[in-house]
Amino acid sequence: MNHRPLLVFDFDGVIVDGMAEYWWSAWQACRRLDAAPEDLSPDEVPDAFRLLRPWVHHGWEMVLLAAELPVLDPQVWLQSYGEAQASALHRRGWQPEQLQAALDASRDGAVRQNRSAWLALHRPFPGLVERLRQFEAEGVDWAVLTTKTQVFTAELLNSLGLHPWRLDGREAGAKPQVLLQLQKQRTLCGFVEDRRATLEAVRSTPGLERLPCFLVSWGYLRPQDQSNLPPGIALLHPDRFRAPLAQWP
Ligand SMILES: [Mg+2]
Repeated sequence: MNHRPLLVFDFDGVIVDGMAEYWWSAWQACRRLDAAPEDLSPDEVPDAFRLLRPWVHHGWEMVLLAAELPVLDPQVWLQSYGEAQASALHRRGWQPEQLQAALDASRDGAVRQNRSAWLALHRPFPGLVERLRQFEAEGVDWAVLTTKTQVFTAELLNSLGLHPWRLDGREAGAKPQVLLQLQKQRTLCGFVEDRRATLEAVRSTPGLERLPCFLVSWGYLRPQDQSNLPPGIALLHPDRFRAPLAQWP
């Protein structure tokens, strides 16, 4: 067993701000489904999309959101996202799988046809790349665990010159299960995420109750996410993130 501690990071909303790409790819995916929001430009992220992005868990949800954007009431979606989503899916007769396939095909096309333009739609959060590189000197390895497809994430990490010890994408399964597997091989010293529900699911998974969890303040958070965090989940601000791991909350 490798005894260097391993710190595991979510990707979207933690390492990289991909808002411009989420909107662009979701818009293109809608076009593949003959449902492009034609009055909205794929190059300009609408406020309502930005506002609702923190509720998104899987990529396909962004496709539905983009298609619905011209007609949806943001307040209704903010109040009952799950119900609004289910009813829009039903009305359109869509399945999540076909939306995900359209999104993957859009990204795939973009990567093949204009790789540098696609990469440029992603921005690492300020200081992130430098900080990740410092972990090595601290004796800490880091890994990436994301609901994004492995191949797209690998492409982006490479373009940033980042080389995690390991990368697990959507294909690897649910995050708590992947963390349990990783824990058999390595000593996990933390999991860093911007989705509170995922951290709560991790902490309530038998075997992961003691894994320190960090919610990053710079990610795609819902307004209520930062308050009343349960024990074991700490809010991580950029200044603490830059400090040595031993000083994290
Ligand atoms: Mg995230």
